[in-house]
Amino acid sequence: MNGQTAIVTGGGRGIGRTIAEFLAQRGVNVVIVGVNIDIAHNASSELEKLGIKSIAVKADVSNAPDVNNIFERALREFGRVEILINNAGITKDGLLLRMREEDWDTVININLKGTFLCSREAVKVMSKQRYGRIINIASVIAFTGNPGQVNYGASKAGIVGLTKTIAKEYASRNITVNAVAPGFIMTAMTETIPENIKQDMINAIPLGRFGVPEDVANAVIFLASTEASYITGQVIHINGGMYM
Ligand code: NAP
Repeated sequence: MNGQTAIVTGGGRGIGRTIAEFLAQRGVNVVIVGVNIDIAHNASSELEKLGIKSIAVKADVSNAPDVNNIFERALREFGRVEILINNAGITKDGLLLRMREEDWDTVININLKGTFLCSREAVKVMSKQRYGRIINIASVIAFTGNPGQVNYGASKAGIVGLTKTIAKEYASRNITVNAVAPGFIMTAMTETIPENIKQDMINAIPLGRFGVPEDVANAVIFLASTEASYITGQVIHINGGMYM
């Protein structure tokens, strides 16, 4: 992977940041994408200390012109893009009857449409290269459902369908497309869960703990590597056994 270029959406913090670090440790130049440019810049500067080149791009992944700009900047800087990690994602929870249409739209737009827009740009570049790795971050919730997350669960289930479809469309161009489905991973997204509920959740996890971003990054790095060249259209579950 040394010398390749990766785009990591939401690479400024949480799971995306750890994925970006793991890529940088393997000599990959990284484009960090986020809405908060200070967070993205900070991550980029830290990554450069590992001896690679990194740029930060401010972009809302649900906005097509922003997404075009990510790829323009990446190509101007690095000339190629071998790896796309569609990691940017949010939650806006609420039970179905109380879910505001606006919260449905926002979650679907960022999580699902964002993955579509970034993948659409990526395959243009990767098709010309005859090489590419797209890794999408889904969720265990796509498979189990979760009360209060109708928008999030639908967005992540959508990502699974999108992954398999793009995998079939672009296999002939040597582009593999896979997803990982994390369970509960300790980041800002999960830190607001009340302690008593956290304990109930841990009790339901056979391995007896929440995951850490490194658990997800290890699987993503494998899928991004040449060792995974015969794997496409798959979902790797990273959940401590809570869903089998
Ligand atoms: P997080 O700590 O809240 O980080 C979310 C990241 O997404 C941030 O870097 C944020 O950028 C970026 N982002 C949000 N909206 C964006 C937009 N419109 N355009 C571009 N970037 C945007 O979340 P996380 O826990 O690391 O989650 C990362 C991914 O893993 C998400 O897709 C999430 O659904 C998935 N996941 C997480 C868990 C878990 O338990 N944590 C489990 C399963 C799946 P800024 O820094 O600029 O705000």
